[in-house]
Amino acid sequence: MAQLMQGKRGLIMGVANNHSIAWGISKALAAEGAELAITYQGEALGKRVKPLAAEVGSDFLLQCDVEDLASVDQVFEALKERWGGIDFVVHAIGFSDKNELKGLYADTTRDNFTRTMVISCFSFTEVAKRAAAIMNEGGSMLTLTYGGSMRVMPNYNVMGVAKAALEASVRYLAADYGPRGLRVNAISAGPIRTLAGAGISDARAMLSWQQKNSPMRRTVTIEDVGSSALYLLSGLSRGVTGEIHYVDSGYNITSMPTLETLRN
Ligand code: NAD
Repeated sequence: MAQLMQGKRGLIMGVANNHSIAWGISKALAAEGAELAITYQGEALGKRVKPLAAEVGSDFLLQCDVEDLASVDQVFEALKERWGGIDFVVHAIGFSDKNELKGLYADTTRDNFTRTMVISCFSFTEVAKRAAAIMNEGGSMLTLTYGGSMRVMPNYNVMGVAKAALEASVRYLAADYGPRGLRVNAISAGPIRTLAGAGISDARAMLSWQQKNSPMRRTVTIEDVGSSALYLLSGLSRGVTGEIHYVDSGYNITSMPTLETLRN
């Protein structure tokens, strides 16, 4: 049977280790025949990412720190040089000072607000613009968000504000690039134990709350996110753009804790 991503090439940004959501997405795409280029933030992470890239058959590794726009430009120049065009891009990047991922949102500093917004939100717009310039017809872009954008989650603070702006960016970028046949979507994942997830205070409590109170009574895995990403990045979702697709065991539809939780 033909593979869903046979003949498709794309860029994955945000693999830090084998717990990263971007790694779950990479595995799902590679299993369906996609050819991947993978970025790593710095040399320390590069050592971990290199063997992972080999596992999914990629020798196309590029260093990229989105705070340094020149390194973003270099990534897209390298893609153009080696492949000419790309079919998809995955942006699974987020950062905020962990000292501000606790306590009051109102205590967010101007410096951290700006840095969080640039890395976690605006970098997607900068990536999308460069990706669109070399993207083949039918191309698809994907970013990762969290339900703390819509509803208040303890300690998520400035990340929630950045994710709200990121989700709005998805809709504006979808409108920008739709006429060219390019699509832009986001997956809103439930909490997963990752490096970035661990930076949020009381992350364990959030995981346990989701497990007890989501309709499916479980948390999600990077493989769950990977298969939904495969749908959004493949032709299966060719009529879908500007969407925030929840992969959270249904937690977002609930309005109160389960009766089991309330009774215990
Ligand atoms: P992760 O720590 O594995 O990945 C975060 C990635 O962001 C890392 O690869 C890191 O190198 C990269 N990054 C941070 N600053 C960067 C910079 N300046 N330049 C380039 N790369 C940079 O954690 P993850 O949970 O897989 O996070 C991936 C995405 O998923 C993030 O946007 C995160 O907000 C989002 N998300 C995570 C969860 C969760 O519970 N883990 C839930 C919903 C959404």
